[in-house]
Amino acid sequence: MVDPDEVNALAQLMTWKTAVANIPYGGAKGGIGCNPRDLSMSELERLTRVFTQRIHDLIGIHRDVPAPDMGTNAQTMAWILDEYSKFHGHSPAVVTGKPIDLGGSLGRESATGLGVVFATESVLAEYGKSISGMKFVIQGFGNVGSWAAKLIHDRGGKVVAVSDITGAIKNPDGIDIPALLRYKESNTSLKEFQGTDAMDPNDLLVHECDVLIPCALGGVINKENAADVKAKFIIEAANHPTDPEADEILSNKGVVILPDIYANAGGVTVSYFEWVQNIQGFMWEEEKVNCELKRYMHKAFLDIKAMCQIHNCNLRMGAFTLGVNRVARATILRGWEA
Ligand code: NAD
Repeated sequence: MVDPDEVNALAQLMTWKTAVANIPYGGAKGGIGCNPRDLSMSELERLTRVFTQRIHDLIGIHRDVPAPDMGTNAQTMAWILDEYSKFHGHSPAVVTGKPIDLGGSLGRESATGLGVVFATESVLAEYGKSISGMKFVIQGFGNVGSWAAKLIHDRGGKVVAVSDITGAIKNPDGIDIPALLRYKESNTSLKEFQGTDAMDPNDLLVHECDVLIPCALGGVINKENAADVKAKFIIEAANHPTDPEADEILSNKGVVILPDIYANAGGVTVSYFEWVQNIQGFMWEEEKVNCELKRYMHKAFLDIKAMCQIHNCNLRMGAFTLGVNRVARATILRGWEA
């Protein structure tokens, strides 16, 4: 469903996200309109290589560094790296989210999900709550959703419903996430996973829970379903899952929304760590990666909270104010003010 308008919007979100995370990047995005599930490995490889041939002059270590997003993974990044290197020589820092054997960072695969969990812990702590014992609903069980589910389960949270493109399942006592992850390795659909009941995917976002974490598509929480959302907290792990009308309806209901430009910034933060390691030619231990990620996520939360206090605004406005102010300050310092 990707198109130029969406790519532009995502590139802009990326600019504010890297500013909120306080990492030395701007914002960019790219995409191919296709369904990767319908393509064979060799078709995916050819598509990625031809795409790279067309954009190799637009990307670069100090220009634009792609990373995996919806429908892409470490293998996609490996093909881009290989194709780019045919034109420019071996350049591991030109992509992040690569396989470890090609210079990828330990902890990158789990980074967005782990960042989501650090962000969730920060916001819950503000309300005197923690993940343990709370009920979670997760839409999307790909890279971000499955890691978030696993890490929440490890911390004693109950994931009461999950969905992916094949369907949705629920269990009011909590789904056995480690078993579901094993099940997914050899099954394409979630629907027949034992110990759960299948449910209508359209009901997932309005299912009874404390915390709703959309980890799939944009625009899924909209004016049609916002009034029926039961969650008290929404953690935007997907990019722009809540449309502006829904945002207003939810705010009026007192739902706390942790915005995407902060909640899912763990991915680009560890992409930055991977790029730093590639440039330095020095690999970090996974513990160091996760520890630094925690530090960046915590600092960004404190910075957003300070903005909310100064401007008496919600977390989304606080995060945007922080990001836009940082970009504006840098722009003015360079002498670009109008
Ligand atoms: P992915 O391709 O690994 O997984 C996407 C998941 O969404 C899959 O489980 C898929 O089945 C599911 N899905 C697709 N359509 C659906 C539908 N209609 N209903 C329910 N589930 C559906 O992608 P990902 O990397 O996990 O990314 C998920 C979201 O997180 C996207 O919005 C992406 O932009 C955002 N994000 C990802 C990263 C990252 O590092 N991967 C970083 C920041 C933000």
